[in-house]
Amino acid sequence: MIPFVDLPAQHRAIRGEIDDAIRGVLESCQFTLGSEVAKFEEEFADYCDSRFAIGVSSGTSALHLALLAANVGPGDEVITVPFTFVATVAAIHYTGATPVLVDIDPCTCTLDPEALEAALTPRTRAIIPVHLYGQCADMDAILAIARRHGLIVIEDACQAHGAQYKGRRAGSLGDLGCFSFYPGKNLGACGEGGLVTTQSADYDSTVRMLRDWGAERKYRHVLKGYNYRLEALQGAVLRVKLRHLEDWTEARRAAAARYDALLADSGVRLPREAGYARHVYHIYAIRTSMRALWKAELQARGIHTGIHYPFPVHLLPAYSDLGYRAGQFPHSERAAQEVLSLPMFAELTEEQTAAVASAVLELARQSSASRACELGAAG
Ligand SMILES: *Cc1c(COP(=O)(O)O)cnc(C)c1O
Repeated sequence: MIPFVDLPAQHRAIRGEIDDAIRGVLESCQFTLGSEVAKFEEEFADYCDSRFAIGVSSGTSALHLALLAANVGPGDEVITVPFTFVATVAAIHYTGATPVLVDIDPCTCTLDPEALEAALTPRTRAIIPVHLYGQCADMDAILAIARRHGLIVIEDACQAHGAQYKGRRAGSLGDLGCFSFYPGKNLGACGEGGLVTTQSADYDSTVRMLRDWGAERKYRHVLKGYNYRLEALQGAVLRVKLRHLEDWTEARRAAAARYDALLADSGVRLPREAGYARHVYHIYAIRTSMRALWKAELQARGIHTGIHYPFPVHLLPAYSDLGYRAGQFPHSERAAQEVLSLPMFAELTEEQTAAVASAVLELARQSSASRACELGAAG
């Protein structure tokens, strides 16, 4: 059996370090924020080339607080993409602002800067490009439009720890960056966690207050805040894992390169690393019009796959009130029908990538044979 992600394999490799980190927190009895979180913030800021990093309780709370720090609220519009995890749009909704959706570039599956310009209105306040699958959106083009119109750019880097755009780190490109440490992410906690990066001391102090009840010091609440603190156990675990992240990212990139090479002549549409990008392959998604069949056939061969994501946000029942229709974001809708995420994790072996690739090759051959039959029958 080849799992889609193999968290036990990761844990086996670093068990001793994790045990020590957890024991340290238990003995300190400092269970939330505290020195482990403060040190992790410093180390992650350094890793991202950001001046500031604020640990929070999830990627979703990171997005929520980044938007609040940017002063986004009712009456404002925030632009993002429909082809993302629902949290991006939910966080906009939490602030009372209106999510405005624009389509993706069909090659990178990230926000299309050309679609962005057309969606601007006098109420637009912020843009959230999503670095989907671990590859940055085309940030120079997006930032140029944002600067021209005085808009704030918040990176959804929840899948992009360590990703680069023209040599610069995800999270250091926009005004604020948001990360998730959900267990399955490239850097995952033993539970929930998230973080906001920024170069601005003002944003830093606002997010820092908002995550802990808006207090500038104990019981002195100057803002209406939240309980969005990062737990000390997570901070300690994340410090351990951050030390391994570059090695894990290189291992993911090597696994992606093996898939690329093995499937190069298959006729299957493979993910493409943009010229500007260092892709960190949170997800390695191929595309096929026979997805349901391929997923079932791979499952029957013991190969687990994922779909990220089967529905674009504008076609989800929860967001029908945004008023969008099917057909409005054709690249997002097509991607949602075709993407299939192959097993991808740092510990993936050469035997495993070879087995996955040969199963995909076989399916590709069968599918093109059956397509040829249909064409023959029609003719
Ligand atoms: C995981 C994820 C989030 C939300 O992060 P949580 O930690 O699960 O709240 C937001 N956006 C994207 C693109 C994600 O992948």
